[in-house]
Amino acid sequence: MPTLVESALAAAGSSTADALAELCALARIPSISASAEHVREVHASADATAALLRSHGLENVRQLRVNDSHPYVLGEWLHAGPDAPTVLLYAHHDVQPPGRLDRWTTDPFVPTERDGRLYGRGTADDKAGAVAHAEAVGAWLSANGSIPCNVRILVEGEEEIGSPNLEAFLNAHADELRADVFVLADAGQWDVGVPGITYSLRGLVGCDVKLRALKGPLHSGISGGAVPDPVQGMARLLSAMTDENGVVTIEGFADDLIAPSAVERERIVALGGERGFAAAYGLLPGVSVIGDPNAPLYERLWRQSALTVIGFDAHPIKGSSNQIVAACTARLSFRLAPGQDPARVFEAVKSHIEKHTPWGLNAEVTSHEGSPAWTTEPTGWAFEACEEALEAGFGVAPVAMGIGGSIPFVGPFAATFGGIPALLIGPEDPYSRPHGEDESLHIADFASLIRSEVYLFQNLANARR
Ligand SMILES: [Zn+2]
Repeated sequence: MPTLVESALAAAGSSTADALAELCALARIPSISASAEHVREVHASADATAALLRSHGLENVRQLRVNDSHPYVLGEWLHAGPDAPTVLLYAHHDVQPPGRLDRWTTDPFVPTERDGRLYGRGTADDKAGAVAHAEAVGAWLSANGSIPCNVRILVEGEEEIGSPNLEAFLNAHADELRADVFVLADAGQWDVGVPGITYSLRGLVGCDVKLRALKGPLHSGISGGAVPDPVQGMARLLSAMTDENGVVTIEGFADDLIAPSAVERERIVALGGERGFAAAYGLLPGVSVIGDPNAPLYERLWRQSALTVIGFDAHPIKGSSNQIVAACTARLSFRLAPGQDPARVFEAVKSHIEKHTPWGLNAEVTSHEGSPAWTTEPTGWAFEACEEALEAGFGVAPVAMGIGGSIPFVGPFAATFGGIPALLIGPEDPYSRPHGEDESLHIADFASLIRSEVYLFQNLANARR
């Protein structure tokens, strides 16, 4: 007689093709939460997600909104009894805009299989997460009529615009989400075939700096040499923000940064990664890797801050003439390390700009986003259950890893539920290009992720017993 988990695994294995078809159907909907023109599609995506959850046996499936939020889809299966743990599964059904269409090999909203990967916007981030949750629940229910855990599921509709209503949503609906552990399928794997558990995310501060020198553009021949050029002023200002290694040196910026513990640094050093990094990330020959020379690579990427200029407005080269422009704007994106408070960081950046803007140029700074980093110690009953589940599902032990990017809702989520363990797993691998053109999902690993989740329900229940 097969055990319950074996029966559930067999059910999951026999529905891999269905899972892929479900994912394709979802990924065909351009649920771009950032775009006002796609509100209808975000709703269609919520409807399709709700139908998916219902068809896999989730109960009380409903759509909720707070303020003007995009729809959240909720569902549950709560019949495992009071002694079994309650698991909250999270994913999101909205997607990023497709970016430049000419850089996609095939239409971003026509999911297409090539070389074992499924290409399309949302195939990895994060519609695969929603489908994996539904499939794992469905496998247990179709094979055994039960799940060893109580399950709640939340599929958000506005993660890609920074979850602006999540706090209000959690306040209004906390009781419907209460759980002992939550599982977020919006992170990723260490490599193709190698699963990961993410225990650290960086925070983010975004702001625009505008420098103005003139009421209007001036002839550079008549005025150049005496009238300051705001673009060069910006170059001086920006270069004063980092040292020769590209490390942010803004006064007070890193005062509250929490350095990794000895145990964590050991974990990071053991990962190595320096060799081959430049090639893997596509650095051109001769271009050097930057950052704190005393920190190992993954400490720089996960546990230290970084500055990127993500946008720049001056005069485009096309149509330019011999003029001094009146103003220029840079959009700055600061990744924050654990400990750094976004509001304090923004103040430090502002006073740096006040102090270092040359030539009395008029500086204007506007903040447009801020969220702290999140980190946890990847130990304890839930992490152990998850590690074993991933190893069983992939046949390879998972890597405890950080992500240099930001998922702003993880911190508030954990805090709302009294610091319950957060297990960040997911379908993305280093080649998935989430948010980029030609986003894709590794299909065999997607099946392994579903298998892992099937194991995870059993392991979490065992760990709590
Ligand atoms: Zn995502």
